[in-house]
Amino acid sequence: YDNEFDAIVVGAGLAGSAAALTMANRGLEPLLVERGSYPGAKNVFGGVLYTPTIRELVDLDAAPLERYVAEKRFSMLSHDDETAISLKPGEWHREPHNDSYTVYRGEFDEWFADQAVEAGATLVTETTVTGVIREGGDIVGVETDRPDGAIRAPYVVLAEGGNSLVSEGASLKSPESRENIAVAAKEVLEFPERSGVIEDRFRLVGDAGVSYQYFGEGAVGEAYGGGFIYTNGDTVSVGVAYSLEDAATKRQSPEETLNLFKSHPAVAPLLRGARTVEYGAKTIPEGGAESMPSLVHNGAVIVGDAAGLVLNNGVHLEGTNMAVESGYYAGTAIVEAAERGRTEASALESYSERLEDSFVVQNLERYAWLQDRVEEDRELLFEQLPRAIADASSEYFTMDRRPKEMHAKAAKQRVFDTLGGWKGATKLALRYRKLV
Ligand code: FAD
Repeated sequence: YDNEFDAIVVGAGLAGSAAALTMANRGLEPLLVERGSYPGAKNVFGGVLYTPTIRELVDLDAAPLERYVAEKRFSMLSHDDETAISLKPGEWHREPHNDSYTVYRGEFDEWFADQAVEAGATLVTETTVTGVIREGGDIVGVETDRPDGAIRAPYVVLAEGGNSLVSEGASLKSPESRENIAVAAKEVLEFPERSGVIEDRFRLVGDAGVSYQYFGEGAVGEAYGGGFIYTNGDTVSVGVAYSLEDAATKRQSPEETLNLFKSHPAVAPLLRGARTVEYGAKTIPEGGAESMPSLVHNGAVIVGDAAGLVLNNGVHLEGTNMAVESGYYAGTAIVEAAERGRTEASALESYSERLEDSFVVQNLERYAWLQDRVEEDRELLFEQLPRAIADASSEYFTMDRRPKEMHAKAAKQRVFDTLGGWKGATKLALRYRKLV
């Protein structure tokens, strides 16, 4: 294909389809190239789809959504204890449900790519892009694994996800961007008796669902990371995500870590009797603002996970909203550049400018410091403190013949000893004050 399409989008994930849809809506004819047998076929995902931007692009009422998130629960697991906080704002039961929905990405990505096709994009599946075609310093197309598979077009959108071999192969991303990477393992579990089990176990009514996040050594052993459970319509997604470096140095395989999490006494009863219907492992870029590559090149832009646009600060795990936002801005910038008949990087610069002004880069920058700091305090935050809080709660509520005041003092002492007294507690609060 020689310039039969206005743009080539590498990868029909959320970022790629958002870019293709945006271009098609404004009269361009993009080609979406996907290596899977259908968009989403290869996706490993928790997860919650965050929809504030996507609902501007498509009619979400027609989308394959599983459940809206009605409860967020954060849980500290030590060896066999759990200390948890549960948030259930009544507001989340009402439209637009805080723009947070569990989805099967195999279904959602296919539907979303179809919206781009209906708007005028062309989708080709089972085709892997193997590299970019350069002329001088400009990117003018891609090579694929098909016979005679070179495709040329004025613009290339690299939306290939976190394992961004094409961008790296073209030296658009440095290998250092691989330093802060998490490895994730996830299972979809089904209950044999299906009807009503999820509602009963997670105390749900109708389409309401839950997002449970877990931290501490009981969730992922000695690694830095956490576990999660999300409810879909008839299944639950259960997984762990933790530092790839820890996976290597501490020899914790994703499968072992997931089994450790699933067998914790606070987790196992939620999953009792369920059988695995799907298993997957994947990497998540977590380098934040510092490892973002240059987003704009002559003839090409990088979007979504390929550009490292994922926020994982322990409280938020967000990549879907960032992928769609970046795809939308990249598509808009290409439309504007095409109107002026220009392809050089400076003509596409409005993409990175808009992204920098948006919540995407602002959030990544706000939490840029967090990863290293948590790494430094890992033992205190993930092992000692969860244990101390569990011991203190148990002490505080111990039923014996001592007066309550003695229990309260002993409980306070247990936490303070771990933190190093008032001085240590204040120091820790100051170190993490930017989190709130
Ligand atoms: P992807 O969704 O990875 O899409 C990339 C697409 O490109 C894929 O379809 C792939 O097959 C295709 N592709 C790759 N290479 C090629 C090639 N060479 N040629 C052709 N096609 C190619 N985010 C949230 O917001 N909420 C969550 O709860 C959440 N949970 C997560 C849980 C797990 C276990 C993981 C791994 C991630 C989670 N994320 C979550 C992050 C989220 O999944 C990503 O941020 C998001 O999917 C990024 O979208 P994307 O379009 O950039 O990339």
